[in-house]
Amino acid sequence: MVLDNLGSSLRSTLDNLRGKSRISEEDVDEVVKEIQRSLIQADVDISLVQQLSDSIKSRALDEDPPAGTSPRDWVLRIVYEELVALLGESTELPLEGQTIMLAGLYGSGKTTTAAKMAWWFSKKGLRPAIIQTDTDRPGAYDQAKQMAGNAEVDFYGDPDADDPVKIAEEGLEATADADVRIVDTAGRDGLNRELIDQIEEIESVVNPDRNLLVLDAAMGQSAKDQAQEFEDSIGIDGVIITKLDGTAKGGGALAAVNETDSTIAFLGTGETVKDIERFEASGFVSRLLGMGDLEQLTERVERAMVEAQEEDEDWEPEDILEGQFTLKDMRKQMDAMNRMGPLDQVMDMIPGMGGGLKDQLPDDAMDVTEERMRDFDVVMDSMTEDELENPRQIGQSRIERIARGSGKPEERIRELLQQHKMMEQTLKQFQGMGDADMERMMKQMQGGGGPGGPGGMGGMGGGGGPFG
Ligand code: GDP
Ligand code: MG
Repeated sequence: MVLDNLGSSLRSTLDNLRGKSRISEEDVDEVVKEIQRSLIQADVDISLVQQLSDSIKSRALDEDPPAGTSPRDWVLRIVYEELVALLGESTELPLEGQTIMLAGLYGSGKTTTAAKMAWWFSKKGLRPAIIQTDTDRPGAYDQAKQMAGNAEVDFYGDPDADDPVKIAEEGLEATADADVRIVDTAGRDGLNRELIDQIEEIESVVNPDRNLLVLDAAMGQSAKDQAQEFEDSIGIDGVIITKLDGTAKGGGALAAVNETDSTIAFLGTGETVKDIERFEASGFVSRLLGMGDLEQLTERVERAMVEAQEEDEDWEPEDILEGQFTLKDMRKQMDAMNRMGPLDQVMDMIPGMGGGLKDQLPDDAMDVTEERMRDFDVVMDSMTEDELENPRQIGQSRIERIARGSGKPEERIRELLQQHKMMEQTLKQFQGMGDADMERMMKQMQGGGGPGGPGGMGGMGGGGGPFG
């Protein structure tokens, strides 16, 4: 994704500063060059690159680091702050009733994003509805309806109508009960007068509270002109950058945001309705720099826990922290973990795990872990209720039976039991820990407070956290 290489290349450059007591102009030049290289590779506009490197350079040389801060941490802090400033605040999006219209070119991801956003709002406790006004593309209605179904939200569309303005009007009436109405619009191969006229007309009947522009991360410099045109016609309140899970670099989209003086609202990171993140510059940049994003991680954990619980109402996550930790609990945790999304995305959010550390893992480590989790699931299917509740009673003969029943090697069953034991031990450490201790630990993981606290990597090591 954007600046994907920045984290690791920058870290190794910064490592050259380790042990130095002051920073020379050459040191700063090295760092700035590395940043420029990453930004340009990511398609970021050259004037933007210049602007950013100038401010990093002058700050690193002119400002005095706070007492006790090493030159390395100081430069990292400046890079972090300047990148956050470049990306800016996220688009303001109050959690209340509102109408949002999506605009963008054909294939940029509007319809997918409409469903993702609706899902996101529904998880925030609001009732969203999608209004589909694309009458040009065959199949647009079915696609939107299906995605709304996946997101489990209200939907309005009319497969037989051919006037998008009329659909919009009727859609607003039909979805009067909803809190948040998301109006999806048609795209075109390129920006033309017809598209602009149509979207202006829809805009005038819908009268949205916010217009969000959907941009494909793969779009290069042309994103800038496009954003400007939409800005001139309907006005853009925020941008959504999609397909950041791919090889796309997103630099064009960043330039578009900068050009129109707008902000980023969401990031799209996949094809399902859950693959959406609220954009938050500080978390985003810490993730890029390998400093983790605890906020996003916490949100995913909470959401996954709620979902796991919705499926099994008897199960309370709190029980784990109080009573015994059984294989059933472990299974719930694995399930919750799966719901958090692909492991490598989750790892980027854990301080000290993203970037550098992750790069050191063999390429297939993630696949192996996910495969092992699936195996564990199959193994647990072959266990009795009693074994799931009391895994410590499982001896050799039971291991043999479970292996036969599940078709998995005995080794796998031992691994599962071992993993369970490790998690049980880790949890024991959390038991009896008050909120204050927990908070202190989180702070420590973040690197001693402050937004993103550069320099604070570490923390998470030693036998793995509760997710092993
Ligand atoms: P629209 O024409 O603007 O409505 O675009 P669509 O929502 O139909 O999306 C076009 C294609 O891009 C579809 O195949 C989507 O599945 C895909 N897509 C949309 N957003 C993302 C994303 O964040 N990641 C990935 N990998 N694919 C996406
Ligand atoms: Mg569409």
